[in-house]
Amino acid sequence: MVETPPWGLIEQPSFINAVCEIDFTGSAPDLLDILQKIENDMGRIRTEKWGPRVIDLDILEFNREIHLGERLTLPHPFYPERTFVLEPLAELEPHWVPTGYRNTVSELWALALAASKNIN
Ligand code: ATP
Ligand code: CA
Ligand code: CA
Repeated sequence: MVETPPWGLIEQPSFINAVCEIDFTGSAPDLLDILQKIENDMGRIRTEKWGPRVIDLDILEFNREIHLGERLTLPHPFYPERTFVLEPLAELEPHWVPTGYRNTVSELWALALAASKNIN
């Protein structure tokens, strides 16, 4: 779990980011239904995109399935480019190679760290 400054819309409090892995017997759209119900039950009100929210539950990958639907895109677009995803994911599954990528998550995280050191 990591705390990171906001991304996208920056005038808001920082976010707590975590990644988890689950066993699930239904389909990816079934899982999205359940996650959205949890978000609603926790009091999430949809305002501006990337704005403050009590909870945001996204599916990063689902059995390496590809979905390009209006309601569901899998893998989650550009998740391996988001450092706030890479850092907790590298703790959980360092050897995972994101679908469509050639590097492991720990390699991608190391590259992102090196790139940020070059900038700062
Ligand atoms: P981002 O998707 O860039 O992280 P966000 O999580 O803030 O942004 P939301 O407003 O929470 O975006 O979600 C917008 C819509 O994205 C949801 O209503 C959902 O139907 C859709 N969606 C598409 N693919 C996924 C996915 N893999 N996981 C969760 N939601 C998804
Ligand atoms: Ca999100
Ligand atoms: Ca979301």
